[in-house]
Amino acid sequence: MDENWATSLHCEGRTILKVSMSSHAVQSIGWTCLPFLCVLLLTQIAQSENLSFQHVSVIPMDSERVLTDQTVLIAGNRIVEIGPSNRIKIPSGTRNIEGRGSFLIPGLCDMHVHFALPALHPRYESLNRKWALELIANGVTTVRNMRGFPELLDFRREVDAGLIIGPHIYSTGPGNNSGGCAWPFDRRVDTVAVAHKAVSRDKADGFDAVKVFTGLNAAAYHSLAAEAHASGLAVYGHVPDAVGLEGVLDAHQDSIEHLSGYLYAINSTECENGQISPGGISTRDSRSYDASILRSIARKTQASGTWNCPTLVLLQTLGKRWQGLLHAWQAPGATPFLPWLWVLGKFNAAALRDERDELPHFARVVMSMLHEAGARVVVGTDADGTYVAHGSSIHQELYNLVSAGYSRYEALRAGTADAAELLRKQDEFGTVEAGKLANLILLQGNPLADIRNTGQRIGVVVQGHWHSQRDLEILVDSCDQVHNRRSWSCE
Ligand SMILES: [Zn+2]
Repeated sequence: MDENWATSLHCEGRTILKVSMSSHAVQSIGWTCLPFLCVLLLTQIAQSENLSFQHVSVIPMDSERVLTDQTVLIAGNRIVEIGPSNRIKIPSGTRNIEGRGSFLIPGLCDMHVHFALPALHPRYESLNRKWALELIANGVTTVRNMRGFPELLDFRREVDAGLIIGPHIYSTGPGNNSGGCAWPFDRRVDTVAVAHKAVSRDKADGFDAVKVFTGLNAAAYHSLAAEAHASGLAVYGHVPDAVGLEGVLDAHQDSIEHLSGYLYAINSTECENGQISPGGISTRDSRSYDASILRSIARKTQASGTWNCPTLVLLQTLGKRWQGLLHAWQAPGATPFLPWLWVLGKFNAAALRDERDELPHFARVVMSMLHEAGARVVVGTDADGTYVAHGSSIHQELYNLVSAGYSRYEALRAGTADAAELLRKQDEFGTVEAGKLANLILLQGNPLADIRNTGQRIGVVVQGHWHSQRDLEILVDSCDQVHNRRSWSCE
């Protein structure tokens, strides 16, 4: 007998979507696709309505202020008007969200994430969709993917077309590295000629930036950086050992990841004796820094205009990597980065012990020096599905910045308006202002009073589409169920 399969999605107590089909149709589509089919239909339904928030407290993030009792009008994917609720008239046919007692902030921006390469595993395409949904469910409406691959550009187009719920993705091209340090899926760049080709390729493919890695030789690095800037691409990544921090600052590298390079700069013996950890960060004797040298480097960082994306939440996990390796390898959602790290000998027990003991301490020192110097910082997590989760980790990173001495406003700005500035898109998003993209989070509490309130969400607006937190969590749960059933782990 041909039984029918049926499901429905509910929004604020109403059934807003019913899907039913024959078991034959279910088999031919495949269970994995069903949640995404629902997402697709839900997204299309949402496209037809304009949106308003009434009596809401707006935290615009253009300065440290809260505007109370505001009405925010959204048409299409843009904010069109903001003003006191007693002055703004809501057009008929607009879907109104009651905002009394709640706070509207810009969507969060995670400036260091990784999506999985579908070429490496057949399940990675659905894994990427799951991660994209988890990012939105955590209020992350913009990400910077830090190692590009061709399928990502198609994925980005599908997200932007509303076919997949996910954040807008900015992305570097593939990683560029020299010699034997290259990861299996990165590009080996040893010469100026190859560097030239790499930049041309990234530009032609449509990536936003060039990724530089720890092992690049000086000639290849300088060629990559100069050609990228000349073609309008940004340069993001690690500090190559052969170039050093000062060389990278002189080249106006646009962002430095994981505070890489800061330790080398203050302790020259590290250059000769230090061991390279998975993140390319040497950690030996990090307590023996010279504060005056570090202070002058922080001032130079500020003067160069180079941003830091410290990924403190990643640095906190490094010490746990050794113990967690086998467990993580077997866990649902593990990626092939782990086996590759093992093969490349990147896991070193002594280095990992040092990281656990030294790195969080040193990171706090560097962050306080950068803060004191007024150097620019953005929020990034290095979420890659192994140790750092997509979405939820951004709330920990915001908390980490506050713990490192940043004010709650400064931390939230690093995760919103400052990220837009790093991406040179400050006219497009990052603040709650008329004309900006309608990427917003409705919160139960004021994050300027307690940064942990970014974890208390009522809903998220993505490109003008409202998703209640309840609906997002239902979708995430259904993704989890489907994904785990077809997991490639030790079943
Ligand atoms: Zn990374």
